[in-house]
Amino acid sequence: MDLPAFANEPILELRRSSVRAGLDDALAAADRELPLPVPVRIDGETRRAADFTSTDPGTPTRVVAECAAATVDEVHRAVSVAERAAPAWRDLPAEERAACLLRAAAWMRERRLELAALEVRECAKPWLEADGDVCEAIDFLEYYARGAIELGRGRPLLQVPGERNEMTYSGRGVAAVISPWNFPLAIPCGMTSAALAAGNAVVLKPAEQSPLMASRLVDALRAGGVPDPMLSILPGAGEVGEALVRDPRVHVIAFTGSLPVGRSIVRAAAETNERHFKAVVAELGGKNCVIVDSDADLDEVVPAVIGSAFNYAGQKCSAASRLLVHEAIADQLLERLAGAVRSLLVDQAQTLGVDVPPVIEREAAERVARYVEIAGDSGTVVAQADAAGFSESQGWFAPPTLAADLPEDSPVLGEEIFGPVLAVQRVRDVEHACDVVDSLSFALTGGLFTRDPSVVRRVRARTPVGNLYVNRGITGAMVARQPFGGNRLSGTGLKAGGPDYLLQFVSQRAVSENTMRHGLVV
Ligand code: NAD
Repeated sequence: MDLPAFANEPILELRRSSVRAGLDDALAAADRELPLPVPVRIDGETRRAADFTSTDPGTPTRVVAECAAATVDEVHRAVSVAERAAPAWRDLPAEERAACLLRAAAWMRERRLELAALEVRECAKPWLEADGDVCEAIDFLEYYARGAIELGRGRPLLQVPGERNEMTYSGRGVAAVISPWNFPLAIPCGMTSAALAAGNAVVLKPAEQSPLMASRLVDALRAGGVPDPMLSILPGAGEVGEALVRDPRVHVIAFTGSLPVGRSIVRAAAETNERHFKAVVAELGGKNCVIVDSDADLDEVVPAVIGSAFNYAGQKCSAASRLLVHEAIADQLLERLAGAVRSLLVDQAQTLGVDVPPVIEREAAERVARYVEIAGDSGTVVAQADAAGFSESQGWFAPPTLAADLPEDSPVLGEEIFGPVLAVQRVRDVEHACDVVDSLSFALTGGLFTRDPSVVRRVRARTPVGNLYVNRGITGAMVARQPFGGNRLSGTGLKAGGPDYLLQFVSQRAVSENTMRHGLVV
């Protein structure tokens, strides 16, 4: 199979009025269809029910999807189906599995606006971010399809006369994929498509907040030709994921979500193995710091930091949550950031130009409010944007907040808030800032603003984070350009959207054959 070189899917040009008109039509069409059913689907058979719903964070009374919740029996049935089916899928030429992914990408491409509109409703993703999520899902499909073909060819080993050495890669068996809601198409798509491309059968447990987007992923992969037994979907809450993780027949678990759940999965995976060790790919939370040196260009710093901290209401694992500013420029930068925060547009996700949409659910708004209260009690709330114009029936709005003067042991400085809160801290110099970053258990993303190349080299050498961004925003990793994933308690795995990711979903075999013939057997 000859494929063109991988290229990222171009995002929509929202400045064109024809594109913007398309968005309105897509949203109106989505609204006419809602609520949509999300059944449990095992081996192509569906069971519909309205055990739980997903709702619009911008209008909590709007039901987006009516979902069946998988039972423990269904979890075990889905794993049985996957276990039986996996060997045939594994033994297909990698090109055939890849072709399914490429057709799924084409299916999504044809439905770009429809998919983005559903994200606007189910997760309150602003248009640009919703479209970005759909593009990233397409990128994962295209990228892992190519990666699987390459892996299918094996890797070269040293050959000596009289010996043939081969290294091959094949699917591990049953992959359990458990996803979060904040990139509701791209993240389940990345984990599922990697597992499938590498030759595994997948049982997918999506986040309870975004089951509809995950069911669209399953539609795409089925339309692409992935056979029914290779992909089941089990909507439901955490206990569905827990039952899946504990099933001894699961070979590999791909999980993206919070640290506490990730930790419990790593433990459960270690305890529930019988004939094999379960591999765990865990991509977890962060407490992401941006360092600003005294020579930084503040015209560059302000928009990059504001976007990294507050876009999508800070609900990105990569979002900036702590700013470590050289004391020489701290007052000046704080004043400019305060002005920028006050002028953020807090509004519904479908409003073009919105900076901060509602957060995903009531608990999230309450959690953010608790951290803001702590910041006010033990430090200074320097600035907030106005979110007071919205009543609860208009959504779960949390005011974007800039805080400072917090004590070193403040939870605002140490814990993942996962909301629109940015804490600013003065540092003596870049080495001091590096000490702060190094003291954290999370090590996901980080940023640095400086004009001095020697500072870039020093920080690069010292930082523990998985993704360091220099003189730019710290969110928006692109497949193949910024392979993504954290170190320390931010993750166990090899980077998503990078050249090594698929290796986590395969078993390696090295075969060495003596090719010196000692006579013929007739
Ligand atoms: P979460 O951990 O609450 O839930 C993630 C998934 O795990 C959901 O499907 C949930 O139902 C399931 N789950 C819950 N309890 C479980 C259990 N005991 N066993 C198995 N599965 C269980 O996370 P969330 O709120 O959906 O997402 C936000 C978190 O995800 C943040 O911490 C964020 O940083 C992290 N995240 C990380 C990355 C990354 O690439 N590192 C990307 C996106 C989000």
